[in-house]
Amino acid sequence: MNTTTDQRKILIFDTTLRDGEQSPGCSMHLNEKLDVAEALEAMGVDIIEAGFPASSEGEFKAVREIASVLKRARVTALCRCKKEDIDRGYEAVKDAAAFRLHIFLATSPIHLEHKLRITEDTAIEMIDLHTRYARALAEDVEFSFEDATRTPLPFLAKAAATAIAAGATTLNFPDTVGYATPHEMGEMITYIRNNVAGIENVNISVHCHNDLGMAVANSLAAVQAGAGQVECTVNGIGERAGNAAMEEIVMSLRTRRDFFDCFTDIDTTRIYSVSKLVSSIVGIKLPPNKAIVGRNAFVHESGIHQHGVLTNKCTYEIMNPRDIGVPENALVLGKHSGKHAFTELLAEMGYSLTPEQAETFFPKYKEIADRKKEVTRSDIDALLSGAFRRRIKRIYTLKDYEVTAYKNSASASISLEAEGKIHTERMTGDGPVDAGFKAINSLTGQNFKLVDYQLHSVSEGKDALGEATVKLVSPDDGKMMTGKGVSTDVLEASLLAYLNATNKLLQEE
Ligand code: MN
Repeated sequence: MNTTTDQRKILIFDTTLRDGEQSPGCSMHLNEKLDVAEALEAMGVDIIEAGFPASSEGEFKAVREIASVLKRARVTALCRCKKEDIDRGYEAVKDAAAFRLHIFLATSPIHLEHKLRITEDTAIEMIDLHTRYARALAEDVEFSFEDATRTPLPFLAKAAATAIAAGATTLNFPDTVGYATPHEMGEMITYIRNNVAGIENVNISVHCHNDLGMAVANSLAAVQAGAGQVECTVNGIGERAGNAAMEEIVMSLRTRRDFFDCFTDIDTTRIYSVSKLVSSIVGIKLPPNKAIVGRNAFVHESGIHQHGVLTNKCTYEIMNPRDIGVPENALVLGKHSGKHAFTELLAEMGYSLTPEQAETFFPKYKEIADRKKEVTRSDIDALLSGAFRRRIKRIYTLKDYEVTAYKNSASASISLEAEGKIHTERMTGDGPVDAGFKAINSLTGQNFKLVDYQLHSVSEGKDALGEATVKLVSPDDGKMMTGKGVSTDVLEASLLAYLNATNKLLQEE
């Protein structure tokens, strides 16, 4: 790849843990947030938005913990234009290796009139006052003009000039409602660059939503017009239709570096594993045709394409799957493969197990190998996916289960262990899964509600491993958690997933 020194570096600002996590069904346990934060740092993300500390005690604690584990990446916290918010944000990130305060205020007439009920003059005063307040606490202050794309350009320029004069170091122009087109995004950035005093001394950022499917295109149009920072999320998760997808922005800039004349510091070979980590934690499967990270993104099905790719990959492949870290799926293990073959394969797949971990996982692998003819890489991934993450404390453990099911009725007897004691409960239900879930609720004394339940096979074949995902909501506080379970028996996978979500909900964050 050609690298010329005059190419611009584009900062990657990841908001998976803030905009992504606050979207429906994407709540993460604190330990999961820490795993994601470390994975983002390892892949080279420049700025990690860890949350919105003023929103709750749990959120404040999570941001503070994330700030404490990051060593290189800059952590930031979102704050409304309120002194209390900024104080709270500062408290949460102040001990980090590097931090930024991120303040926002809406500037569009719709938001000023109907949401904030303030005049343009008041908005300007608020921007000035709070930017100065934040700047007294932090060297690095980002100001976001919410709904910038529906703000008249002269007023947006006035707001921008105010923030710069008050000490802001990054100005962010979000397409909050996903309304803009790429052409308009480019024009907005160009207008700002030509009409705001001191703009050359600050970094210009964009934050685009995907309501019309243009979040990535809009972000790239802004980069072309001179933006130096892009806000995005892994897999494009986020409010409503989501945010601009980080993997698409990074790979567009990399694949078309000749066109954009820019680069990022992202280690693209980590894209695939980070995408998998996030989708597994939030329990959202990617569509197979998702750009860059979908299952079919590099599959050539038609005969003509296959022939072309076999002759020369460049015919139909603009990216190498290896560049984003897609594992090659050839080698498998069988029933007779020993510990040596097992550890060799793990090493090749990028897992480095301590001898103790190898001792723990080898019997689990053997158990699967006894039940299945072939153990694939996907099976190994499913088996080990949680192994290198922070543990979610198990308050309850599944000890035993027994079900009987007929056409219109089923009953399940479940035994759970808690604090060294085993308790058993039998319940009836509409089916074996329903009966089992009811028995777990009865044993734990909870009335958690099941809002989503999915079963997938991890690999192919009738003996494939089943992976269950459940989403449970606590009716008391509305908190939602995703649980996962993996087994060759789908009922066991379902019970494990239900318990996993239960254990997460029972832990105070
Ligand atoms: Mn947003």
